Amino acid sequence: MKILHLLVMRLFLNVMQAQESKVIVVTLDGLRWQELFQGADKDLISDKKYTEDPKRLKDLFFDSDASKRPVQLFPFLHSSTVQSGWVLGNRSQGSVVQLSNKFLVSAPGYNEIITGLKDDAVVSNNKKRDNPNVSVFELAQQDIRFKDKVAVFGSWELFPYIFNEKRSNLPVNAGYRTASHSNLSAAEVQINAMQRLTPKRWQGVRYDVFTHQYALEALKNQKPKLLFVGYGETDDFAHNGLYDHYLESARTADEMIKQLWEYTQSDPFYKGQTTFVITTDHGRGNGSSWTSHGKGVDGAEATWIIAFGNQINSGQVKSTGTFEANQIAATIAKLLQLELKDAGQKGKPLF
Ligand SMILES: [Zn+2]
Repeated sequence: MKILHLLVMRLFLNVMQAQESKVIVVTLDGLRWQELFQGADKDLISDKKYTEDPKRLKDLFFDSDASKRPVQLFPFLHSSTVQSGWVLGNRSQGSVVQLSNKFLVSAPGYNEIITGLKDDAVVSNNKKRDNPNVSVFELAQQDIRFKDKVAVFGSWELFPYIFNEKRSNLPVNAGYRTASHSNLSAAEVQINAMQRLTPKRWQGVRYDVFTHQYALEALKNQKPKLLFVGYGETDDFAHNGLYDHYLESARTADEMIKQLWEYTQSDPFYKGQTTFVITTDHGRGNGSSWTSHGKGVDGAEATWIIAFGNQINSGQVKSTGTFEANQIAATIAKLLQLELKDAGQKGKPLF
């Protein structure tokens, strides 16, 4: 009888383990809600100052039927898989997502997303400074269920500071870092070599394809239960005033997210147990201010949040209303049954 009892317990534990929640957080740096929900902007795509070959870009992204334009840019994010989840931030339909920090630049935005704390006194700019605030990723790393099963990949070289890798012990592969753990896959060796030989367009931000391929390899080989993937090209092309490149990077990011999702659906470790949370660190200005963001740039406070997959259904969150980026950390914590410290000072879970 006792043996039977133990067997039943073990079976129960195995089932519990097999159904453990995993979360993948994806960010698209400085991608506006306007492009996400309305597609390419009529004026910017037509302006030769911003778009080298308007005809080519319009053929790709500017259908005469306005309702098709968002789908042309983000076919996966507008697919039924994603739309059955939470899609927040379409201001033309009364869904508002905003930043709570007042600086409206990247580091304060990411701090708000991953820690849940608006910290205007300390995280006010993009300087390389170890974040004093504890992220939900660091919290997971301290939990026996997730220890060494948390990974961070990003295109921007500031992520090691934002996630405070020194204190948090999180593995952060960002900027032009290579995969450097002790058990490199053949693909990782190849990605390392290709990254080294590819032109470095920006000093502090690599092309997203490298971030993406490293993250995909980690999913296959290291099996993180909490993963951050921070794509960066959209912001840098926007600062460069290249609307065509901005759109094409947005379209590529959609494809990359689709690949991450499809991988999770092909792997029994992730299938049916994985939630995706996708957002941006800040919005951008309107009209000719689209290249910019920051304090005083109208529109830079406007962001968006998408979540779909395990544990998520559209009935949980009424999309009309106002939400804040500082609610994302508590939402991730809830999905993983982690307890945020000082939760009273932080944004509440979205559900
Ligand atoms: Zn920027």
